[in-house]
Amino acid sequence: MAAQETVEHKYVYDFAEGNKDLKDLLGGKGANLAEMTNLGLPVPPGFTITTEACKAYLATGEEPDGLADQIAAHLASLERAMGRRLGDPQDPLLVSVRSGAKFSMPGMMETVLNVGLNDRSVVGLSAQAGGNDRFAWDSYRRLIQMFGKTVCEVPGEEFEHALDEAKRAKGTTNDLDLDADDLRGLVDEYKKIFLKHTGREFPQEPREQLDLAIRAVFESWNAERAVLYRRQERIPADLGTAVNVVSMVFGNLGPDSGTGVAFTRDPASGAQGIYGDYLANAQGEDVVAGIRNTVPLQELEQLDKKSYDELLRYMARLEGHYKDLCDIEFTIERGKLWMLQTRVGKRTAAAAFVIAGQLVDEGLIDLDEALHRVNGAQLAQLMFPRFQLDHEFQPVAKGIGASPGAAVGKVVFTSARAVELAAEGEDVILVRRETNPDDLNGMIAAKGILTSRGGKTSHAAVVARGMGKTCVSGADELDIDIPQRRFTVAGQTVTEGDIVSIDGTTGKVYLGEVPVMPSEVVQYFEGSLDPEHIDNALVRAVHRIMSHADAKRRLAVRTNADTGADAARARRFGAEGIGLCRTEHMFLGDRRELVERLILARTDDERDEALAALLPLQRDDFVEIFREMDGLPVTVRLIDPPLHEFLPPLEQLAVNVAVAQERGEDVAKEEALLAAVRRMHEENPMLGLRGVRLGLVIPGLFAMQVRAIVEAAVACAQSGGDPRPEIMVPLVGAVQELETVRAEAEKIIEEVTREKAVDVLIGTMIEVPRAALTAGQIAEAAQFFSFGTNDLTQMAWGFSRDDVEGAFFWRYLELGIFGISPFESIDRDGVGRLVRIAAEEGRAARPELKLGVCGEHGGDPDSVHFFHEVGLDYVSCSPFRVPVARLEAGRAVVETDGSDSR
Ligand code: ADP
Ligand code: MG
Ligand code: MG
Repeated sequence: MAAQETVEHKYVYDFAEGNKDLKDLLGGKGANLAEMTNLGLPVPPGFTITTEACKAYLATGEEPDGLADQIAAHLASLERAMGRRLGDPQDPLLVSVRSGAKFSMPGMMETVLNVGLNDRSVVGLSAQAGGNDRFAWDSYRRLIQMFGKTVCEVPGEEFEHALDEAKRAKGTTNDLDLDADDLRGLVDEYKKIFLKHTGREFPQEPREQLDLAIRAVFESWNAERAVLYRRQERIPADLGTAVNVVSMVFGNLGPDSGTGVAFTRDPASGAQGIYGDYLANAQGEDVVAGIRNTVPLQELEQLDKKSYDELLRYMARLEGHYKDLCDIEFTIERGKLWMLQTRVGKRTAAAAFVIAGQLVDEGLIDLDEALHRVNGAQLAQLMFPRFQLDHEFQPVAKGIGASPGAAVGKVVFTSARAVELAAEGEDVILVRRETNPDDLNGMIAAKGILTSRGGKTSHAAVVARGMGKTCVSGADELDIDIPQRRFTVAGQTVTEGDIVSIDGTTGKVYLGEVPVMPSEVVQYFEGSLDPEHIDNALVRAVHRIMSHADAKRRLAVRTNADTGADAARARRFGAEGIGLCRTEHMFLGDRRELVERLILARTDDERDEALAALLPLQRDDFVEIFREMDGLPVTVRLIDPPLHEFLPPLEQLAVNVAVAQERGEDVAKEEALLAAVRRMHEENPMLGLRGVRLGLVIPGLFAMQVRAIVEAAVACAQSGGDPRPEIMVPLVGAVQELETVRAEAEKIIEEVTREKAVDVLIGTMIEVPRAALTAGQIAEAAQFFSFGTNDLTQMAWGFSRDDVEGAFFWRYLELGIFGISPFESIDRDGVGRLVRIAAEEGRAARPELKLGVCGEHGGDPDSVHFFHEVGLDYVSCSPFRVPVARLEAGRAVVETDGSDSR
């Protein structure tokens, strides 16, 4: 056999070889260090070991072939460039070993500084620093501490404890008061701790330190907290991390040295300016650890004007280059500035809009790119009322923002109590360690839910999101005692009835009532804030970006609205019609009595009378809605739920009958109702006598509704309006169902519009899988399809939403069977496929077929992108989601239809 030629895989990249677009391979940190190097910024030289090396290591438990040699070669060239050798006793090169994945995972993975120090090179380091023994021993003790903790799993507290001891012995609380001898003593202590926990001496061989540190970074990818974090943030589990080996620069060499972080704009508000913190005479991790108090970055101007000015120049340079907010780590070593990290910075929802708007003004990006940089989830966040926190309020705990909103109320610890107090008109916050399906009633009754355990996929989080209810989960500082009905947090005890405020966006928990203020963005959408005339950067930015989204989008956005008031509000939010007007509510309230008569009718005449009495009432409802939506399409769905839903519950009727009999009253009507309820009982109402089936079974029911709709439209048209009714038949599974209803409806339309011509469309919901699969036939009888993706999801999966969200969804999410609830975001593979088939086959049969969606998915960002891709004409969602859908429909165009600006 011929000798196999081995093409060596490249696992190590010098900073000069990489660039910012290689994040997959080099991780975010490595790619950006390379970018800064190539921009000519002062980055300490170094190299990056790729994510591929990490993946190979994690798969086999061994470094892949060639990696060790490549590291040796890059280390040698680093040593040449620096004129020093790693751990050289006379003049050592030291390096940091830093993790860095494609997506930043703050605090999740490991970094070790000062690698290369040992008992001998510590002396060389001191000489190098002009005889600064204190600095050298401080660096050494930091190495043992970080290495021990992150590479060898020595409990960090032990080192911290020894450090505290040393300070106590010295009578100080400040690290800087420890002198060289104290630190030398501390190094001895640290080594003992290391030996005790690992059973071996602290490794003195520099290359061994380096290799072990690299392994530890690889392995940190699979550390439990990293795994949890990824699951929560939906970061794929198989990316791996890169490892950066960077020559050390020292911020702890004296008062002319220091370290800091900087943002090119305020990541909270987006405002322009200099934001950051600086700490003199310190190494990087001290800033984050909060060991000593930092000073605002501006003060660096006094301390070291030259470095400060230089830093500002680089910040401007980086912003211009990345065309976005940058977040920067730097260190000053004896008056020389070094750049240690940059990335496009995280920001709040408000800052995202403000910054995108500013960057357009500055000519750095165009509006397409601005649209790309914000999203519907952020916009939705900005539409919730917010806590007004400019006062004295400090959070007492921070959990996970599991379902957004700002909720204030009295604390209760049981579901039963929540229901009781809510019935008395109180706002309550249900506090539990974690919730389970038994808490459902309490969750419904509460304004908000607060738990001490569980993450974004816990029962509480999933159910609260489904209900649109504010929820903070996993606030583990809370010590909850359910039997005693109290919890303690930050040294305070909160008992039942005390008021708390919870922020479901930030996860923060406050004691007492934090004032809530309405969202400015909602005020803008409602038309009460004029973006041209107010000085509000956020509102102006939202206005600008929304206008662009509207100009770009191909999908129309309608709303689901059942009343004139909802229709009016949605129209102000930009709705271009109603995609779903449910008629159920038109059978409720004081009309129940008529419905009962309809159900109990023994003769055709009795039934017709009941229907005739309902007709004018429904007609008035439609008139109101057509007026509010004048000139825009209004899709009215004929009655959908089973009729027994309009009758009192069985138990209640049984009791009524018994009580009335006892009193000797006439119970004929109650008995008849009871009999009807028994007769109409369904084991599985979702799959029972509802939708089009009702229309085919109860003579005159649909006819009455059709007549009410068309008469209302004619009335509006006669008074000069422009009504655009679309009649929608629910739950169709076969074309024959639709044909039957349609034939009857057309007769009525023909008759009623003789007075005044009005165009009326007739179409159907596509919500039964069979309808999707026979869409070609159904389109022959339908002028439009509206996908009812809630029912379609239920029927495609074979589960009912009400039963499953509390019962097992949390478990499915935990197991990863779903990445997200299929009721929250459309299941592209299954339900989405049905939508695609129906859209294609429907259009093939009838090219002018109008296609829309009226399930809740119509307001979900990901789903909107999917509906855009499938080529639907519109989405319809609740009034509050209309702006979100508009924004995402615009984003779908710039993202799917090609814009190279990502
Ligand atoms: P994280 O991702 O947690 O920020 P980093 O790898 O950025 O971890 O490093 C932790 C700290 O150590 C940061 O403050 C960083 O600036 C500092 N640091 C990292 N490498 C060096 C180095 N070569 N010289 C000086 N400081 C460093
Ligand atoms: Mg960092
Ligand atoms: Mg339905």
